Amino acid sequence: AGGGRLCACRFYSSEDSLQLSAEKEIENRMRAALDAGEFAIYLQPKLDLRTDAVVGAEALVRWIDPVRGLVPPSDFIPLFERNGFVVDLDLCVFEQVCALLRAWIDGGRRPVVLSVNMSRAHLADPCFLGRYEEIRRRHDVPASLIEIELTETLVFEDPVGLGRVIDELHAAGYSCSMDDFGSGYSSLNVLKDIDVDVLKLDRVFFDAVDADTGRGAAIVDIVIELARRLRMRTVAEGVETREQAAFLKRAGCDMIQGYLFSRPVPPVEFERLAFGDSFG
Ligand code: C2E
Ligand code: CA
Ligand code: CA
Ligand code: CA
Repeated sequence: AGGGRLCACRFYSSEDSLQLSAEKEIENRMRAALDAGEFAIYLQPKLDLRTDAVVGAEALVRWIDPVRGLVPPSDFIPLFERNGFVVDLDLCVFEQVCALLRAWIDGGRRPVVLSVNMSRAHLADPCFLGRYEEIRRRHDVPASLIEIELTETLVFEDPVGLGRVIDELHAAGYSCSMDDFGSGYSSLNVLKDIDVDVLKLDRVFFDAVDADTGRGAAIVDIVIELARRLRMRTVAEGVETREQAAFLKRAGCDMIQGYLFSRPVPPVEFERLAFGDSFG
């Protein structure tokens, strides 16, 4: 038995060091990759459930590595959250979003609101807004076209800091959304203190609704109604089936985002979806 244990230990630690060396390699390359423009944005459309029009999109980062190809955020965001690099990455994403909005305005298009994810790491920096504002002003785009997604877990980690960040963002003209609502240990009570404009309902909310027309559906109904009374718009995330979309529409949800309509796509492809470009 002792031998088995030792074995398991050795196995564990070699796995561990394998992961550590993979992480070391990423850490050695991340700065150069950022400078080389390897972090690109993909856009996932948000669809208005009443009009079926594309009314916005979320910018999601992709690492386009010349060797490894397209790397999903799950492979590097957790590491970048730990080592702090996520701050620079978020700003790089924000810069690309501003540049794209500027290009749309210059091209005579009616721009749609783009949302960006803001990591918890920004909350620790009292000057975070200045960095965002410098970029936005340089591209000369209105803050009203930009929505900042903040994740639900922050409500528990640092509610005071989160409230302050939301107030600052609002004062500068941005809208704010609560990302992943319902994925953690959310209590409806947090909505009392957290003044966001948009509630993004996590798919755990309506995932089971297909099969279960009772309890799950009742909860979604109530949360959407509550959001409406608090004057928040609602986006359901991760919508994959027509049944889910139909149910969410009946429940009064404003927008859907998910594979049913489109995966995250490169900006040129998004322009085709949103502006109906038929060339290219
Ligand atoms: P998120 O903010 O919750 O983004 C939604 C994720 O759900 C995206 O994964 C998206 O591709 C995926 N998704 C969309 N529709 C569906 C669907 O119908 N079904 C399923 N199963 N999934 C769907 P992605 O792009 O891999 O991003 C994962 C997470 O990485 C994001 O979750 C976000 O937390 C983080 N992330 C992505 N880009 C950034 C960024 O620029 N900055 C920061 N700080 N985090 C980012
Ligand atoms: Ca998000
Ligand atoms: Ca989310
Ligand atoms: Ca409001």
